Amino acid sequence: MLAEMKGINEECGVFGVWGHEKGAELTYYGLHAMQHRGQEGAGVVVSDGDNLKTHKGLGLVNDVFKRADFSKLSGATAVGHVRYSTQGDRAFENVQPLVFRSQTEGMALAHNGNIMNAEKMRGELEGQGSILQTSSDTEVLAHLIKRRGMEISETSITEAINKIIGAYAFVILTEDKMYAALDPSGIRPLSIGRLGDAYVVASETCAFDQIGATFEREVLPGELVTISDEGVSSTRFAMRGRRKMCAMEYVYLSRPDSDVNEVNVHASRKRMGKELAKESPADADMVIGVPDSSISSAIGYAEASGLPYEMGIIKNRYVGRTFIQPSQELREQGVKLKLAPVRGIVAGKRIVMIDDSIVRGTTSRRIVQMLKQAGAVEVHVRIASPSIQHPCYYGIDMSTRDELIAANNSIEEIGEVIGADSVAYLSEAGLEEAIVRDKTIHQGICMACMTGHYPVKENGEQEAAYKGC
Ligand code: SF4
Repeated sequence: MLAEMKGINEECGVFGVWGHEKGAELTYYGLHAMQHRGQEGAGVVVSDGDNLKTHKGLGLVNDVFKRADFSKLSGATAVGHVRYSTQGDRAFENVQPLVFRSQTEGMALAHNGNIMNAEKMRGELEGQGSILQTSSDTEVLAHLIKRRGMEISETSITEAINKIIGAYAFVILTEDKMYAALDPSGIRPLSIGRLGDAYVVASETCAFDQIGATFEREVLPGELVTISDEGVSSTRFAMRGRRKMCAMEYVYLSRPDSDVNEVNVHASRKRMGKELAKESPADADMVIGVPDSSISSAIGYAEASGLPYEMGIIKNRYVGRTFIQPSQELREQGVKLKLAPVRGIVAGKRIVMIDDSIVRGTTSRRIVQMLKQAGAVEVHVRIASPSIQHPCYYGIDMSTRDELIAANNSIEEIGEVIGADSVAYLSEAGLEEAIVRDKTIHQGICMACMTGHYPVKENGEQEAAYKGC
């Protein structure tokens, strides 16, 4: 489904280039491919070896960069960012990359994720005399790196990162080095690619395809990668047993053409649909998917069930984003603007409607109602992930527990609320099976918003003993 309708929002995408004369332009294209990860702001900081130059602004990548003069953004290394922000946090000063300058050096930081102890670290830093200018977690890391006047280096970055707790992927650019770091549980995605002799780093591999780069490898959990004219080096600032990649990246957040932790998103969604068909069949005439992110799982469900896959709902791609409309009533109107039933296909039919998740239930109710108004005689809702009952503390903005329909209602009650003839969710085991094809290679996933088992606690404790994902 559409991100802004769903109530689940990604918290940013990061991109970096090292060693290509068109650093800023490549970053623009890379960010464009990751626009779905954040639509509130975008920016690039480029280094020509001596200076850091910035171009950033509020809005979509195209809006921000149509005012860019790339001839003034020359340089072979660049870091970029697309930002999603919560209400009240849309200030220009929070648009990344954030740039920090001292007398001797500069640094640009781009960050995806959430630092769970940011407030505590902010208090400590302010107590020691630091003056923080933004409400961004990213600035906290910058101050930790430069604490006690330390030079920016692997040592100072490692020291700073070891003080923060959470889920994060960072790209840090100085005048002569680029650093990429991933949290010890590897909850957020971050990959390294090659474009000729140049290196690229991105939250999603679809950004590599966009610029013609090839995937090289994942940044590992707890790894700090340094890229410079001397080549690439790596240190581990933390060791982890199993990775805990965010399951929602596969279910909903990432683009279907991206590979997340070397698992293709579209293929994993198809497997989710197949598992769902095995677990929860329905007596129906056809399978339809809610565009866009549920199409892959609908195809999988149809393949496994033997029912025909049909395009029962289409999406209007030219409607503005509804999340700027604050009221529930307007949000519900947004659904009508964005999605339309294909009356000639659904009328008189018993339908299996696949969606990737249900958050508040209001959007699902509108879609079921829309299908029935178009003549569908039965609508059986099948959800290609386990029910979301818990908040995310790792950088995905989703509704509070009070708003999560599955946290407060039985499955029968959910069916009544959304007006479906039946409802079923994919099991936790089914989701894990669909994503984690080979547990020895691809390791584990975080499903905390579904299971309530959080792999990283706010006190920094890592839930190594948890076997669920
Ligand atoms: S809690 Fe849910 S959304 Fe957050 S990282 Fe884990 S799987 Fe992803």
